[in-house]
Amino acid sequence: MDKRKTLSAQQLNTCCAHRFFPIRTGSGNVGSTAGMKHDAFIDPDWAANRIPGLKPFLAKMPKGRLFNGETDGSSFPNGGLRETHSAAAFTAWDRGSPPFIHDGTCYIPCAFVSHLGCALDDKSPLLRAQDAVNREGLRLLKNLGGYGDVKQVLSFLGWEQEFFVVSKEAYLARPDLRACGRTLMGTPPTKGQQMNLNYFAVMPSSIKACMDEVQAALLKIGCPLNVYHNEVAPGQHEISPFFTVTNISADLNQIAMQICCEAGARHGLVFLFHEKPFAGINGSGKHNNWSIGTDTGLNFFSPGKTEKSSELFSVGVACLTFALNQHNAVIRNSVACAGNDHRHGAQEAPPAIISLHPGADFEQRIDGIIKGGPLASYYTEGTNVDVKCANLNEVVRGLEDRNRTAPFPFCGNRFEFRAVGSSQNCAFPMALVNTAMADGMRALSERIEGGAQVRDAVAQLYQENRRVIFTGDNYSAEWVLEAERRGLPHLKDAVEAHHYFASAEAKALFTRMGVLTEAEVDARAECLFENYAATLEVEATTLMEMIKTGAEAACYADLAIYAQVDRTSKAFLKRASVYTSLTESCEELEAALSKVPTDASPETLAVYCRDVLKPVMGAVRVVCDTAEQLCRKGLWPFPSYTDCVFTHHFNAPIKIEKCE
Ligand code: ADP
Ligand code: MG
Repeated sequence: MDKRKTLSAQQLNTCCAHRFFPIRTGSGNVGSTAGMKHDAFIDPDWAANRIPGLKPFLAKMPKGRLFNGETDGSSFPNGGLRETHSAAAFTAWDRGSPPFIHDGTCYIPCAFVSHLGCALDDKSPLLRAQDAVNREGLRLLKNLGGYGDVKQVLSFLGWEQEFFVVSKEAYLARPDLRACGRTLMGTPPTKGQQMNLNYFAVMPSSIKACMDEVQAALLKIGCPLNVYHNEVAPGQHEISPFFTVTNISADLNQIAMQICCEAGARHGLVFLFHEKPFAGINGSGKHNNWSIGTDTGLNFFSPGKTEKSSELFSVGVACLTFALNQHNAVIRNSVACAGNDHRHGAQEAPPAIISLHPGADFEQRIDGIIKGGPLASYYTEGTNVDVKCANLNEVVRGLEDRNRTAPFPFCGNRFEFRAVGSSQNCAFPMALVNTAMADGMRALSERIEGGAQVRDAVAQLYQENRRVIFTGDNYSAEWVLEAERRGLPHLKDAVEAHHYFASAEAKALFTRMGVLTEAEVDARAECLFENYAATLEVEATTLMEMIKTGAEAACYADLAIYAQVDRTSKAFLKRASVYTSLTESCEELEAALSKVPTDASPETLAVYCRDVLKPVMGAVRVVCDTAEQLCRKGLWPFPSYTDCVFTHHFNAPIKIEKCE
C-alpha cells in the first residue's frame, strides 16, 4: 500500500469503505442498515510538495486510514453515549472478518466505538460475546477434561433470510412501502396462501434471474448461497448461505441484503425485508442457525457418534437450557422490534415466549439425567424410514422430528433461532444468545470447580432450568397457559420486552460476561425505545397522509358516481357511511398524533405509541380496507395487495436457450 505509483484511471475509481452497524432499526428500510463511507485510495504526494494539489496525487491509502477511521458518533442512535459537542467515534477493523471487494470498493468489516470505547453498534457486543464464549468455553472444556488440544471455542451462524419482492412500479406508488417498508392499509388478495401454492414453487423467471445474479455476486465475496427458494406467501422468497463464524456470517448477511437490492434494481424489482409487509399473509423471519464449536471440529450441539461427543452434547444443551431460562428476557429482547411484533404469536412465527426444544426424545433423556442417568449414549446411526415401495431411494431419518413452532428447535447439529426478524441485523440477537450461552458455561464450570461431579452438575442445571424446555406445539393456546403456569415470562410486545433490557439481572449478566457496561446497557435500552417510537410515528404519519391526500379523495370521487344515480340507494348510503367513518377515524389518528409526548423519555414515548397510536392505526385501517373494497377499481390511488404480490412475476422475459 505504501509503494508509490502514478494513478491509473481504474485505480481512481477504487475506494475502501469501513462497514459498520449503527444501532438503528431496519424495518422501514430497503436493504441493509449498515453504515459506510467511501474513502478513495488517493493521497497527496507530500514528499514531492507540501501544497496538496500542485503535485501529483498517489494511488495509496495511508495505513492509518485503512483499518481505522474517526467520525461523528452523535448522528447515529447512541442512547446518550455521544453528544454533538463530544461526538468522536471510531471505526476499527474486525480482524476476524476478512475485507472483500464488491463493485469496485474494498469493504472493511468494522466495529464502531466511542471516544471512551463504548459500543455504538451491534458488532462490538457480538465480538465481546464471542470472546466470552471462547473464554468460558475453554474453561468448561478444561473442567470436563480430555480436550487439551482445543485452542479456540467459537460460535457459528448460518442464516436463512426471508423477504418479499414487489415491482418497482408498485413500490413507488405506495407511500407506506417507501416510508415504512410495510403496507399500512390494503385488503387481502382474493387468493392469498390458502392453497399453499407458493412454497417451494418454481421461481418466477424474474426472481430467478435476479437470484442468479445475487448468488454470483455473493460467491465472489466468499458467501456461497446453498439455498434459494420460494417461501410460503405469494411474492415471498428465501436465501441461505453455508454457515461460518458468527461475526463473518453477520457481516455477510448485511451485504447480502444490499446485493439483493442492487440486483433487484437492475430488474425493476424491490426487495422488502420488513417482518410484515402485508397483513393477512405470512411475514418474514431470519432464522439464525447457530452452534458452538471448536477449532478442532467439535460441535457442542451435535450428538455425534461417540460416547464423548454425546456427552459434550448433553453438556452443551444443559448450558443452553440455563442460558434461555435464566436470561429469558434478554433473549426475548434480542428479537423484539416494532416490525417483529406483527409476527410473534401470530401462528406464523414462534410466540413471544422463549423456550427450548431439544427434541422430544432428548427431553426424555434430560429427565433421565435429572434422575441420575448418564450424559452419554444419545446418538444413533440414523434409522431407515419405511417408505412402503420398492423404487424409492432409501430415506434415513435424523434423531428428532422437526418443530417449526419453537423459537429454539434442535436441528440435528445446531439450534435454529427462529424468532429473529427479517430486517434485524444478526449481530444483535447473536450477541445476546452468545452472552447467555457463555454465562451458562460459566455456571456449569463454577459447579465443577466447586467440587461437583460433571454428571451431577449437568443434572442440576437441567433440573433448575427444566421449565424452559417444551417440545409440544408452541403455536397452541395451551402452551401460553402452560408457560404461565411454569412462570415463564410472556413479554407480548417489544415495549414490554424493552422494560426488562436494562434490569438489574440483565446488567449483571452483561457486565459479568464483559459484553456491555451498565452505561452501555442503559444507552442501548434507550435506543431500543427510540427505534420503536420512531417506527410507529413514521407509520402513523404516513397512514394519515395517505388517507388525507389519496384514499379520501378516491372515496368521494367514487361516491359521486352513486350520487348521480340515486342518493337513496343502498349502494350510495353504504358508501356514504363508510367513507364518512374514514374521515372520522383519520381525524382520531390526527388527534392522537398531535398528542405525542415529544418531550417525554424514549420509554414513555414508546409506551404512548404502543398504547395509543397503534390501536388507532389499527382502527383506521379496518375502515380504510372496507372503503377500498367498495371503491371503484381505478379510482383507488394505491396498488392493491394483488397488484403487489402477484404482478412482478411476469416482468422479465424468460431466457430461451438457442438450440443449434
Ligand atoms: P431449513 O431446512 O431449516 O430451511 P436451510 O437449509 O434453509 O434449513 O438452512 C440451514 C442453514 O443452517 C444453512 O445456512 C446452513 O449452512 C446452516 N447450518 C448447518 N449446520 C450448521 C451449524 N452446525 N451451525 C450453524 N449453522 C449451520
Ligand atoms: Mg429454510
